[in-house]
Amino acid sequence: LAKIVAVASVVATAPMLIFNAVLSSHAAGEGRSELRYIAERAVTRAEAVIGEGVAALRGLADAGHTDCRPAHREALAEAAFRSLHIRQIGIADADGTLLCAEPMGPLAMDVEMPAATGADPATVIGVVEAPGSGERHAIAALRADNGMRIIARFRPEVLLEGSGPWFLQDFYEARVFLEDGSEWSSRSSGWDPARDPSTVSEAAHSSRYPLRVIVTASASALEQTMMPLRRLSIIVSVGFGFLAAAIALWTTWSRDAASDDFSRAVQRGEFVPYYQPVMNIASGELEGCEVLVRWVRPDGTIVSPAAFLPYSEATGLIREITRSLMRQTVIDLADLYVERPKLKIGINLTASHFIDHEIIDEVREIYEGSGISYSQLMFEVTEQHPLKDIRLARAVINRIQRLGSAVALDDVGTGHGGLAYLQQLGIDIIKIDKLFIDKLGEDIHSDKIVDTLVELANTLGMGIIAEGVERTEQVELLRRIGVTSAQGYVFSPPIPAAAFRERVIALAPRKDSQIAA
Ligand code: C2E
Ligand code: CA
Ligand code: CA
Repeated sequence: LAKIVAVASVVATAPMLIFNAVLSSHAAGEGRSELRYIAERAVTRAEAVIGEGVAALRGLADAGHTDCRPAHREALAEAAFRSLHIRQIGIADADGTLLCAEPMGPLAMDVEMPAATGADPATVIGVVEAPGSGERHAIAALRADNGMRIIARFRPEVLLEGSGPWFLQDFYEARVFLEDGSEWSSRSSGWDPARDPSTVSEAAHSSRYPLRVIVTASASALEQTMMPLRRLSIIVSVGFGFLAAAIALWTTWSRDAASDDFSRAVQRGEFVPYYQPVMNIASGELEGCEVLVRWVRPDGTIVSPAAFLPYSEATGLIREITRSLMRQTVIDLADLYVERPKLKIGINLTASHFIDHEIIDEVREIYEGSGISYSQLMFEVTEQHPLKDIRLARAVINRIQRLGSAVALDDVGTGHGGLAYLQQLGIDIIKIDKLFIDKLGEDIHSDKIVDTLVELANTLGMGIIAEGVERTEQVELLRRIGVTSAQGYVFSPPIPAAAFRERVIALAPRKDSQIAA
């Protein structure tokens, strides 16, 4: 269960972490474009406000309201009232000294006037500083024909009205700077960038006036942009986690159920050896047997290996089954075999027996002093399933041979290894597959193949066993070719121990009776 929880949490957190990392980098980019957008909006807003102010000033200039005489001052006041954004309109002299301003009467103030804009040399934007408070106010000015300047002072809030998403409202400031770097106007929420550990800034420039807006925001507030996506990522990840947990639970349960059933069957000894006699077709004597596993279920049904071998090979349970079969051969046959030293027992191994040297220890443990000698054992290696590590297989085979047992290559001609295996593995006996035996006498190619195999075996000093011999004509043909050992339904199918014991007693003379004869 702990494993499942671990798997599920990895499945849940891994995408969440990845997604969060992606989101964070995405948030940074997204936040920047959000700020750029705010800055551009502020520029547009400032341009609109200035444009409206300059238009009002031009109207006054065109009407000749360019000095501080009372009639003109009334016109200035009226224009200021009519404008949404202008608080005051005044007249300054050529040096920039404010002579009068309406409404609110004259204020003697110096007006900072930066360079004229490229588009309209008569128009400039600048700042006036209130003498007492030091407060700075954004202005726009228009030079009149008489050399005087008509000046509009803007309401401070209109230039940079709050904009941008809700989560930034309290965490950003925007400043409008003139070309010379002096601050013209600003908007702040009380958030202090100097005290925030991490800030992000973006700028936008006006193409109409010499001003630029810089927006600075708290990086952590910008992260909020990704909040909805982050929430989604958590939901999706947790969903994945649950799904993974469910799948893991389900597969473990079903596997446990199957393997429990199977391992219990192994432990209960439901896998029993059947023995198929191997005959000497020259003398008619019994030479030995091949052990073929059968699963005898508690209800008496007998299951063939094809139904469970792939599973037991995949799970490695085949090793336990093989061990159990070898033990049973001792119980079933040791007394008969000790009296008949020439009898052989063929035991099938699989690729999973050649991944380490354990089989050697098992063979020694089971057969040492059992009555069945090593020289009576023959281990069959099938060509059907490729061996993973040929050198290791070769080493294991070598050790089997050093014990005194033989190694046979099973299903020759049908599998992966072919003749290469014969050479690489150091095989003692080849078993010619039923496939070729079936066609003996019918198909010239099969005859040739069997012929060639016999020749090859003779040349290399190897033994030969023909498998799947079903008809007497085949026995005759094999005899003629020079094959002496054969097994197949023509002699006997695989049979239980008791039946095989009868065959042994009937067809394999004892050592002493041999001597007596
Ligand atoms: P195999 O090693 O080639 O065994 C010969 C198969 O041919 C056996 O099938 C046997 O019953 C069948 N057979 C023998 N003579 C004849 C015949 O004249 N005609 C026909 N049609 N069939 C014949 P079985 O017992 O069903 O085993 C099938 C395969 O399962 C075996 O092929 C072997 O590769 C594997 N196997 C069986 N028992 C074991 C075992 O204990 N361990 C391992 N690792 N594999 C086993
Ligand atoms: Ca075999
Ligand atoms: Ca075979």
